[in-house]
Amino acid sequence: MAEAKLIDGKAHAERLRRQVAEGVAAFVEQHGTKPGLATVLVGADAASQVYVKSKGKTAIELGMASFDHRLPAETTEEELLALVARLNADPTIHGILVQLPLPRHIDSAKVLLAIDPAKDVDGFHPVNVGRLGSIGAGAPLDFPVPCTPLGCSMLLADAVGNLAGKSAVVVGRSTLVGRPVAQLLLRADCTVTIAHSRTRDLPALCRTADILVVAIGKPEFLRGDWIKPGAAVIDVGINRVPAGDGKTRLVGDVAFDEARHVAGCLTPVPGGVGPMTVACLMYNTLRSAQ
Ligand code: NDP
Repeated sequence: MAEAKLIDGKAHAERLRRQVAEGVAAFVEQHGTKPGLATVLVGADAASQVYVKSKGKTAIELGMASFDHRLPAETTEEELLALVARLNADPTIHGILVQLPLPRHIDSAKVLLAIDPAKDVDGFHPVNVGRLGSIGAGAPLDFPVPCTPLGCSMLLADAVGNLAGKSAVVVGRSTLVGRPVAQLLLRADCTVTIAHSRTRDLPALCRTADILVVAIGKPEFLRGDWIKPGAAVIDVGINRVPAGDGKTRLVGDVAFDEARHVAGCLTPVPGGVGPMTVACLMYNTLRSAQ
């Protein structure tokens, strides 16, 4: 069997960023104002700080306006809801992103519900979750769709082309990744099975898949001999593991060195789905502005 073609998420994300930058320039020309992204971070979680910084920096690189709201960890739910209300009413803001997780004393569901669905560039508002859940085959995505699942579907469309009739297995049923990925694959006319921690004989199920999307958060869990020869494999997992000498490295949920000898095409970790997530956030922000 030939080696799997690597799906280059970095190059794909770079293309998408260029397209968004062009769209932003056209928007500014037409409206005389920039698409605006507001990021809200409560507390000082190190990983969240890195994510929020990179989102704001990318927005500016693509010609958008970025409004960075950093609130102390002791911010009350009422204070956060008041900020969300102000951002909802502000015509210079087209996208609002509240970085999760929030401190435990704040009800995340309540905060997500308070965001104007038209500005919900993460696609987590129940109205947008419902829209994705009820979308017809091939219907336009004219509402914000969660960024990582959107990135997965773009990579698959590029690598595989027409997905109609393909058998897809999505391993993981989180609201953040697994479920929205499955909805997008259904929209693309795949026959979709969602697997989770209680699924019986997961290896046998995975072997039926033409399209395998894995989002479980377990390093190199899915082995090469679980993959149907020639399948397209999208590895969403990001896991940090020891690499000797006190160092660490990132690996996915798929045993990459095994999978590359079996799959037809495969995303690496890092450099696969990861770079698509921020690019899709920028895409969603531009679409909200438009
Ligand atoms: P969650 O922990 O929310 O969900 C994990 C899912 O995997 C659950 O549905 C769980 O099943 C299922 N699962 C766990 N163990 C097994 C198992 N042994 N067999 C089958 N299914 C199992 O994770 P997320 O969806 O948020 O994230 C998944 C991975 O994707 C993580 O590594 C995360 O870091 C990464 N990620 C990457 C992003 C990117 O930008 N590339 C963005 C978001 C996430 P059950 O429901 O039964 O518990």
